[in-house]
Amino acid sequence: MTEGESKLIETAREALGPHGVITDAADIEPWVSDWRGRVHGASPAILAPSSTDEVAAIVKLAGKHRVPLVPQGGNTGMAAGATPSADGSQLLLSMRRMNRIRSINAEGRLAVAEAGVVLETLHEAAHEVGLRFPLTLGSRGSCTIGGLTSTNAGGTQVLKFGTMRSLVAGVEAVLPDGSVHSGLTSLKKDNRGYSLDQLLIGAEGTLGVITAVALKLVPAVAARAVAWAGVETPARALELLRFLEARTSSIEGFELVPEDSLQLVLKHVPGTRAPLNDQHNWQVLIEATTADANTDVGAELEQLLGTALQQGIIGNAVLAANEAQADAFWKIRDTISEAERAEGQTLAHDISVPVGDMPDFIIEAAKKVEQAFPGVIASGFGHLGDGNIHFHVRAAGHSNPNWYEDEGAKITRFVDNLVTQAGGSISAEHGIGQLKLEEFGRLAPPGRVNALRAIKHALDPLGIMNPGKLVP
Ligand SMILES: Cc1cc2nc3c(=O)[nH]c(=O)nc-3n(C[C@H](O)[C@H](O)[C@H](O)COP(=O)(O)OP(=O)(O)OC[C@H]3O[C@@H](n4cnc5c(N)ncnc54)[C@H](O)[C@@H]3O)c2cc1C
Repeated sequence: MTEGESKLIETAREALGPHGVITDAADIEPWVSDWRGRVHGASPAILAPSSTDEVAAIVKLAGKHRVPLVPQGGNTGMAAGATPSADGSQLLLSMRRMNRIRSINAEGRLAVAEAGVVLETLHEAAHEVGLRFPLTLGSRGSCTIGGLTSTNAGGTQVLKFGTMRSLVAGVEAVLPDGSVHSGLTSLKKDNRGYSLDQLLIGAEGTLGVITAVALKLVPAVAARAVAWAGVETPARALELLRFLEARTSSIEGFELVPEDSLQLVLKHVPGTRAPLNDQHNWQVLIEATTADANTDVGAELEQLLGTALQQGIIGNAVLAANEAQADAFWKIRDTISEAERAEGQTLAHDISVPVGDMPDFIIEAAKKVEQAFPGVIASGFGHLGDGNIHFHVRAAGHSNPNWYEDEGAKITRFVDNLVTQAGGSISAEHGIGQLKLEEFGRLAPPGRVNALRAIKHALDPLGIMNPGKLVP
């Protein structure tokens, strides 16, 4: 432990009380590795404030003693952004005790939630007042509002509602000098220059600690319809999306699934069965929702898919007959990564290119990767309508148990080069954290890197906010 750390821990005990400082190694251990268990850090203590004032006090003390802080919510992030360095020189700042929903206003369609509120808790609170917070993802039972905001998370509803950036109406945060930015008034119009709120969204804890967020709510779902369609190519899938969007505003989810992924799920995930009785190279999971109880969203989707079939856009389609079947369709989509892991070693890339270019990119990039690295299988699945897919490379023809360690970095560089040449992003949803820092530094244009460094230095000259993350 550094001298600064021991001084900070001692004074933090006075500021936070006995529940606010955790030094027991067994209690710290589950929080110092990332969710996937790939990056292992160390920290002599977890500081756990329960109010904005307490966060401000800790940040001021951290500045005084020059001790870096690593903000952490549910620790479900995919880029190891909430994992401290391995040398134990950084302290974890857990936001999980700041877990109150401060207000929920049905008239204004706004909720103000503290950073440590778990996403599922917000979903339930919105439901109780007849509203909905539309963003959802697989980690909803553990991830927090502060973490979601700090990673600008996406999920499966982005097509209709956007990422966190479009759902956040205001941010309250403690800045690196210990001052509090109060942006919770959620003004619809405010042109006083740079938006600090927007700067903090997606900043991965490098510019301050988010303590509370004002969030936009939407009307609750009155009904949903879920369908599964078979298509010849990703280009046909995008054509189907555009066909549907031109005729209805109810499309909320549109997920591309290659036949290879479907077969892996059927092989490895118990209780799953193919939705269609014939085979297609590609499949699409479609979810349509309505807030209007008088709209028969199922009949509308069925009729539209019938026309798409007649026009040759799709080869076949089936509408889920009930909620259980709708959930079963989603289960196929949600368990692709799990099925891949059961099959063998897989390299995951969370990438985006312009939406219109994605169909060709998926096919061409997979071909190039398979040619350059014989024996692998490359494929893309996920949020086609957002131009964001999970481009996964599997070690299908390799018996090397260390394939991931031996080949992974080389293949990732190859994929990242293709993405960059296509004008895309090497991190569509998961952020940069530590895991993508080197690649981001290698590929980002100098102007972008210089601006990031300048902003970071201007707001955090002492470098106490999550150093070693996001900024190359
Ligand atoms: C099963 C699963 C499915 C997922 N699906 C998706 C998906 O579909 N789309 C998607 O975008 N992501 C997805 N994710 C990853 C997603 O990024 C995280 O679930 C979530 O956004 C992070 O929230 P968290 O509270 O766990 O944050 P953490 O992991 O604790 O932290 C993430 C980052 O935010 C910073 N941070 C956390 N809290 C604060 C705060 N209060 N102030 C400042 N900085 C803070 C941390 O320092 C770190 O850099 C998935 C993760 C899992 C495990």
